[in-house]
Amino acid sequence: MKKTYMKTLVAATLLTLGFACTPPSEKETKSIKNDQVEALLSQMTLEEKVGQMAQLTLDVITKGDDVFSSYEPLELDEALVKEALLEHHVGSILNTANNRARTPEKWQEIISQIQDIAINQSRLKIPVIYGIDAIHGTTYTAGATMFPQEIAQAATFNRALVRKGAEICAYETRASAIPWTFSPVLDMGRDPRFPRIWEGFGEDVYLTSQLGEQMIKGYEGENNDVGNPLHVASCLKHFLGYSVPLSGKDRTPAYIPEIELRERHIPAFAAAIDAGAHTVMINSGLINGTPVHASYDILTRLLKQELGFEGVAVTDWADIDNLYKRDKVAETAKEATKLAINAGIDMAMIPYSMDFCTDLVELVKEGEVSMERIDDAVRRILTLKVKLGLFETSVTHYKDYPKFGSQEFADESYLAAAEAITLLKNKDYILPLKKGAKILVAGPNANSMRSLNGGWTYSWQGEKVEEFAQEFNTILEALQNVNGKESTSYAAGVSYNEKAQYWQENVNIDAAVKAATDADYIVLCVGENSYTEKPGDLHELTLSSNQIDLAKALSKTGKPIILVLNEGRPRIIRDIAGLSHAIIQTYLPGNFGGDALADILFGKVNPSGKLPYTYPMYTNTLVTYDHKPSEEQDKMEGMYDYESDFAVQFPFGFGLSYTTFAYSDLQLSASSINATDELTVSVKLTNTGDREGKEVVQLYSSDLYASISPDLNRLRRFDKVSLKAGESKTISFTLTGRDLAFVGQDLNWVVEKGDFEIKIGDQSAKLNVTETKTFGQVDRIL
Ligand code: BGC
Repeated sequence: MKKTYMKTLVAATLLTLGFACTPPSEKETKSIKNDQVEALLSQMTLEEKVGQMAQLTLDVITKGDDVFSSYEPLELDEALVKEALLEHHVGSILNTANNRARTPEKWQEIISQIQDIAINQSRLKIPVIYGIDAIHGTTYTAGATMFPQEIAQAATFNRALVRKGAEICAYETRASAIPWTFSPVLDMGRDPRFPRIWEGFGEDVYLTSQLGEQMIKGYEGENNDVGNPLHVASCLKHFLGYSVPLSGKDRTPAYIPEIELRERHIPAFAAAIDAGAHTVMINSGLINGTPVHASYDILTRLLKQELGFEGVAVTDWADIDNLYKRDKVAETAKEATKLAINAGIDMAMIPYSMDFCTDLVELVKEGEVSMERIDDAVRRILTLKVKLGLFETSVTHYKDYPKFGSQEFADESYLAAAEAITLLKNKDYILPLKKGAKILVAGPNANSMRSLNGGWTYSWQGEKVEEFAQEFNTILEALQNVNGKESTSYAAGVSYNEKAQYWQENVNIDAAVKAATDADYIVLCVGENSYTEKPGDLHELTLSSNQIDLAKALSKTGKPIILVLNEGRPRIIRDIAGLSHAIIQTYLPGNFGGDALADILFGKVNPSGKLPYTYPMYTNTLVTYDHKPSEEQDKMEGMYDYESDFAVQFPFGFGLSYTTFAYSDLQLSASSINATDELTVSVKLTNTGDREGKEVVQLYSSDLYASISPDLNRLRRFDKVSLKAGESKTISFTLTGRDLAFVGQDLNWVVEKGDFEIKIGDQSAKLNVTETKTFGQVDRIL
């Protein structure tokens, strides 16, 4: 054992045992950790280093017929574990086995056995890092608290709720002996066709950046002290531009000019890196013809050099293989490995074969991949393991996590759902309903825990939810609880075919129409069944024709319809929106979404969610709120006179309440500022209705003229405020010229002198910026 390593070990042991007289400073701790990493690195063989860069999926090392499946009850295959961990020195395992959730006890058992072999039977005793997709709660742990999906969390516009949800998820993930989650998703939800739009925070750059930062702090802690056994390492996904393929389909080519990458796609990742996120997962698709996994420009020049990311860049699932099998930029798997590692990948989510290790060792020996690149990757991985405290505590124990699945956590999830659900229409104030009203609950989403949760819930596609979420209430059950079983009847009319593809349905519209005869109101729950990734691709954004037919048939009964949307992406409802008295969007609100919705429908909770995306009205008008003026061409006058037609169903940021709010007295601390002055914007908000409510105060700016055609509106600040009936509050925000800047033709952020408008609610004020200023200086990356 080398001397420095010994010293570090002694110091670390003393620290763990609490013998140090004075706790070391942050700088000293960092240097001890660096020493530990360097000491290890200096002893490692090439094979050991390469193994650290490899990540296998759990099925590979379990007893089973092949690498794709495992026998139940689940058991590790000791020989396979040894082959992976001791022969190939594999440093990371991910995922569950057989695509199903496990109990904390099972996780404890499996991960303890893995760590036992990794640590006690290997030469250098390096623990494995286990990673999992805990994306709205601890996805793969039975009994964990499932929160609303990210899109619904975005609709809360509530930073504290998002943070709390991530804290709980970190707790329950550690209770499952896992220290690393593949979350948050920071992909911009700018195309409603994309099957993963619900995994992100919606279409706005500022909202995504703000909530992404909260989620990271929730996972990693205020100071990113991931060694704290209540915290986990986060993973930013999917760097970069993953969510905007031209076809709207998962993992198909995206064409993104660099100016757009910088304006919309980089900022949330940049903010997350500044917030200290420890790992990043790479976009599985192509940008401008180049697979991102093979892009030195994006992975090294942009991510690591320009954005200064010091953590681990992990591939997405099988994406090195995809470079040659799917994208054909490499002729062999080995060539693909060379491209990806040289581009800047640190860890390969292989996930099935160990050929990656053999290939990479050969590539280094042949001089095709440098030892410096390997050392850089391994240094990053070992640093993460050290920071996570895995060398001291390789397995956290569920017994130390008594709050796992507790009522306290359930209450937080309920609160998040209650603040997410967004009231979009309330004609004649039909809502809230009075208890005891005779309601018919209909539609395919009425009695489904699966559709409330969406994908990544107890399994990848969410198809096993009913098995694990028995104890929670569907919308129907929650309504029966609140309104009484005798007043609440049920006829689906259309139901999902649970044995088929997520979009396939069974139809019995007549039965629902008949059941409506006795009802005063129809609560019609429509939307989508659960899906994610490629299986969630879609040919038609309009709500299914069966569901539209159901709504039309029910509306003919003359009974008022309360249309409940429960969907991962905004399916077009133009033809039935007008037939409904009320429309309420639940997104994918999680296990307590049914309860929260029932409490909103019956008035216990006042809705306060706001749309985190533009709800489209037509399939050919898929625009975001921050579009260019040319998207809305009112009138061309002259010889060729015409008007063009621009329409959306509901705008970004929209959502009603049972009370009313009035904005007044918008004040700017100055009518003109230079580029670095601080401007204070204040506005008075009054609750003018008769009950307490929460309002999201949203500050937008418009640059009236600019060298790049300016976005019509940009969200610059928001705050969620609670006011009692009749109460007023003044809300203030601070801005500088940097907040008003855009990415100019030379790819730098610039604020140009000239006039701006600052808007909050129906209030607006002019602002003049007196100088043009460029912030930073970047090199073109593409
Ligand atoms: C998804 C990622 C996920 C990974 C590991 C991939 O298919 O794109 O979001 O983290 O699998 O499960």
